[in-house]
Parts: sequence; structure tokens; C-alpha cells
Amino acid sequence: MGDVVSNESLANLLREERRFAPPAELAANANVTAEAYERAKADRLGFWAEQARRLTWATEPNETLDWSNPPFAKWFADGKLNVAYNCVDRHVENGLGDRVALHFEGEPGDTRSLTYADLQREVSQAAHALTELGVQTGDRVAIYMPMIPETVVAMLACARIGAPHSVVFGGFSADALATRIKDADARVVITSDGGYRRGKPSALKPAVDEALTRPGTEDVRSVLVVRRTGQDMEWHEGRDVWWHEIVDRQPEQHTPEAFDAEHPLFILYTSGTTGKPKGILHTTGGYLTQISYTHHAVFDLKPESDVYWCTADVGWVTGHSYIVYGPLSNGATEVLYEGTPDTPHQGRWWEIVQKYGVSILYTAPTAIRACMKWGDDIPAKFDLSSLRILGSVGEPINPEAWVWYRKHIGGDRTPVVDTWWQTETGGMMITPLPGVTTTKPGSAQIPLPGISATVVDDEANEVPNGAGGYLVLTEPWPSMLRTIWGDDQRYLDTYWARFENRYFAGDGAKKDDDGDIWLLGRVDDVMLVSGHNISTTEVESALVSHPKVAEAAVVGATDPQTTQAICAFVILRGGAAEDEGLVEELRAHVAKQLGPIAKPKRILPVAELPKTRSGKIMRRLLRDVAENRALGDVTTLTDSSVMELIQSKLPSAPSED
Ligand code: ATP
Ligand code: MG
Repeated sequence: MGDVVSNESLANLLREERRFAPPAELAANANVTAEAYERAKADRLGFWAEQARRLTWATEPNETLDWSNPPFAKWFADGKLNVAYNCVDRHVENGLGDRVALHFEGEPGDTRSLTYADLQREVSQAAHALTELGVQTGDRVAIYMPMIPETVVAMLACARIGAPHSVVFGGFSADALATRIKDADARVVITSDGGYRRGKPSALKPAVDEALTRPGTEDVRSVLVVRRTGQDMEWHEGRDVWWHEIVDRQPEQHTPEAFDAEHPLFILYTSGTTGKPKGILHTTGGYLTQISYTHHAVFDLKPESDVYWCTADVGWVTGHSYIVYGPLSNGATEVLYEGTPDTPHQGRWWEIVQKYGVSILYTAPTAIRACMKWGDDIPAKFDLSSLRILGSVGEPINPEAWVWYRKHIGGDRTPVVDTWWQTETGGMMITPLPGVTTTKPGSAQIPLPGISATVVDDEANEVPNGAGGYLVLTEPWPSMLRTIWGDDQRYLDTYWARFENRYFAGDGAKKDDDGDIWLLGRVDDVMLVSGHNISTTEVESALVSHPKVAEAAVVGATDPQTTQAICAFVILRGGAAEDEGLVEELRAHVAKQLGPIAKPKRILPVAELPKTRSGKIMRRLLRDVAENRALGDVTTLTDSSVMELIQSKLPSAPSED
């Protein structure tokens, strides 16, 4: 990876000299300052032991890291704690029972605010209800829910009784749910009749009923159902139980039991962007330490005054770490929104920011690009002056989208933190710190204090500044995955076989002249064109830097002359017309930005791109289309009609040079 083209394009990005120093006031009052890097460098384990003291332990740990059997880590192994106690009860005990934990905003406009005292009561009752349903410590519970407060309560109730949860995104099919129930051998499923999406009730329970007819799901003995929409549904006597019937009558006090730091907290399946999802296992003490610390550091959270909002779904890791465990362990007040950003209008998110005075917003590049496509005038109608920090996660953020986000959402005032991490890492790993780092649009920049990452070449040698290669993590970290559920061998093969003693993240990256890290997309997506490695991210960013393009996906399709030919799919910005000369104009634009070798052979304007449920572009499907192959696994795709639309556009003859 990382040859001529990458260097040129990087130089191009840097030439723009867009640099943003932290606002002086933020820097002066920042939770974490530059000194943290020094401290962590001098004594990494001591640094994490210190962060572990953010938590309330029933038994304080004496050990920090046990790495005697790599890559199977144990963090704080002799400590004991309860995650739900740390996220809820201790705040109430500290006199914060009246602080709002969750401002829930339903898609239809119904609202509910839960204080920490409310949360404590509901989590306690739900914990008792799960116990009444026979759930024991160690039993797995599947959670298949919309974005409503009961989802957060359910997760915390599981944590409280030491029953690992497996949250399955509410948009997944019965098949996807069945596979995950089976893989984790879940005993109970928590669901709801439905939730509101795009202006109407959308059913969930029927998918559970269907999933439970599949072989391998027989161990599920109860289905706990929250009433949200009031939709009709089948009812299985003896198996199905209404949440309000069993939870509401439980005692309001529940004594949390302390569990070992290495007790399993949850299993979560990866997005499936590159293939079959992997059941990632996270445990208790190390996970909560890193999640709590990173949420405090990267968002500079001031729990007494900030209103935090992460727009992710709880069904993916961002929702676990930065809706549930991070903010709540830190006693934050946060917004939980049920629906889509464009219901009932494209300004819904900005209306919510204005209404609750959101000060920290965490979202994904895909959403930012959608807002760019809808137009600058939409956020401009709302008062967004409460915002002080913006975050991004999920994909590389194109510099153009980064700058748009800062300007049109952040009023050219707020730092933008581009946070690189994965389901496997549990928490943030590479990101600027808002009070410390001078940011560069499009770069995740530097590993957090206590995190060790670098970029290596094929032979595992660290690349010099200015060169590209593979992103690796060189030291274990507290919230690292412990294994792939039930498949230690796959854990070893996927992450630890490529480079000795280094965690292989599967992403390509580059160090710029200052040593800052730029993510270049997945290694699987790198294209080989006439002997040059070209990253999809760079060609996509070049396309998105054209004023008519809102979003782009690039793949390499097998080509007899050049090994692979660059094939680009673009979504135009609101108002841009798909006229004759456009494709040529875009090809010329890329050639100018990156050099002639990176000029796409084909460019297809499309209405939508295939995305995973977490909003990531699924390039492997586009590659299938570009090479006229049958589509690979589509179970994690948001909308399968997108692929039909794209396929119907493709047969047109490729444009030749
Ligand atoms: P699968 O592993 O099943 O293919 P996935 O990798 O999409 O799915 P996640 O764990 O949700 O599942 O996503 C992590 C990946 O998302 C990272 O490896 C990286 O490719 C991408 N990513 C996340 N944040 C960033 C970021 N800030 N910059 C660049 N890429 C990012
Ligand atoms: Mg992945």
C-alpha cells in the first residue's frame, strides 16, 4: 500500500492547509491535556490502573494486565465490580438522582425524560424480572429492540445480573436474528411489538416469532415484549411475556452483585461490511475503564452542563460504548432518538439539537454526507449554538464532509474529533483530543494516551512518515475483544496471524509528514491498478471534493489491461444535474487531484449506495456488480432494492480513455 498516488493525494490534502487549533477556552478547561500522553508513555499500565479508579470497584484490582497467554488478555483480573451499579446507582448515591440521564425523543414526537433515580428503579425491576424468567449469571440474553429507553434498561439489567447481552440491530431480518440467537445460544429474547421508523410503526415481534421457528433456537424459553406501538401480533402463551406485566410489579430495590473484571459483559456481531459477522466478546472491568475514560477525554464531557447525543443505533458498538456504558458511567445527560434523521422533515436532528441544547454530537460520515446532499439551508434554520464538540465514527470521513460538518453544524467554532475504532477494540483508539490537538480534516491523527498503534509494511516494519501500509495495534488495551465467541481459532487467525504479536485491524493507513495517521479504508478494498496500490478512500475523497458530489464509493473491478480498473459510484448533491459532461468532468477532477493513474475508468451516478445497517458502504457488493458476479452475503444490507437499481444501470459500456 501507499505508493505514488497516495503520496500525491495526501500532499494535495495537506496543501490546503486547513488546520484548526483547539478553541482557547476549551483548551484551558479541558478534561485531558497534553501531559496525559507523556504520563501514559512513561508508564502505560500505571496510566490504565489510574483510569480504572474512575470506576467504583467492589474489590479494587491489584493486577493491571495479565498478558501471560497472548493474545488472550486479562485486565484488572483480581478486581470485582458491577457495571450497572457504576452506570446508575453510584450517581444516585452521590446525590445526582434528579439529574436527567435520558431525554427520549420518539419519532412521532412523544417524549420522556428519565432521571438517574428513574433509571435505577427501572433497571432494578427489570433485573428482578429477568431473574424471575430464570435468567442466571452467564446466560445469554438477545435484545432486539427499537431505540427506546427500555432498550438501555434491558442492557443494564443484563449487566446487573451478569447475563451477557447480545444486542441485534432492530432492522435485521428474522434470519440474521436467528443466526445470532443460535451462535450465542440465547435463553431469553427481549423485544417490542415494534418501533416508529419513517413515520410509521415498524414491527419487530413477528421477526422474533419467525426466528424462533429456526433450528438451533430451541433454548429460548421466554420472550419479553415491550409495548411501544400497540401493533397486533401473534402471542405464544407460556413463552411470551409483556414487559409491563412482569417488570412493573417487581421490587424497586435490587442489590447488585459484583462480578469478576473478566466476566463477559456482551457479545456483539460486527457490521458485516467485509463478510460474515464475527461475535465479538467483551468483558467487564477493562471495557468499562476504557469506555468511561475515552468518553470523558475525547468529548471533554462536563456532566453537570453538557447535553450529549450519539445518533448511532444501540445495535452496533457505538451505541453500546457511547450511548450506554460511556455516558452513563460518567453521569452524563444524553438524548436518545428513536427515528430517522429525515422524519418528518430533513431538519429533525437539528430541531432536536436546538430543543435539548445538545452540546456534544457524535455521528457517522454517512449521515453527514446525507445532510450535505440535502443542502446547507436545512441546518441553517435552527439554532445550533449550544454545540461545542462534534465527533465522527464508522468510516473514513472525507475532508470535504469534515469541513462541511464543522462549518454548517459546528458554526466554524467546534472541534471535530474523527475517532477510529472497531467493534473489536470496544472503545476509541485513534482520535484527536478536542482541547489538545490541532485537527486536520480527514485524519484520525494520533493514538489516545495509553494506546499504541502504528503503520507497518508487508514485512511488519514500521513505515516512515509519509508512507502507507497496514494499521496495527502494538500493545494490548483494556477494552480489547477477548475472543470471537465460541471460536478462539478464528480470533487468532483474523487478528493475530498476519503480524507476529501485533493486532491486525484490517484497515490501511498512512502516516503524514508529522506522523499523523490517515485511515485509507479496508485492506480488502485496496485496488491494484497498473502496478499501483490505490486506496478507495482517497479516490472517494477526491470525488467528494467536487462540488457536485455528495457521496462516492469506489471499487477495483478485474480488468485485462490494468489488473483492476477503478469503478466509481457517485451520489450527486441536491440540485446537481446528471448531464452529459458530468462523468468526464469528474474523471478529470480526480486525475487533477490524484494523478492520471487514479482516474476512474467508469463513473456511475446512482441514487443510493449499498450500505450496512450501520451506514457503511459495502464495497464488496459493488465489486460483485462491477464484475458481473452473483452478490455475496447481503443479510446486513439496509435495502436490497438499492442493488437492483445499481445493477440495472451498469451494463452501459465503460468509457475508454
Ligand atoms: P466487519 O468487520 O464485519 O466487516 P465492520 O468492520 O464494518 O464489519 P465495525 O466494527 O462496526 O464493523 O467497524 C469498524 C471499522 O469501521 C474499522 O475497521 C474501519 O474500517 C471503519 N472505521 C470506523 N471508524 C473509522 C474512522 N474514524 N476512520 C476510518 N475508518 C473507520
Ligand atoms: Mg471490521
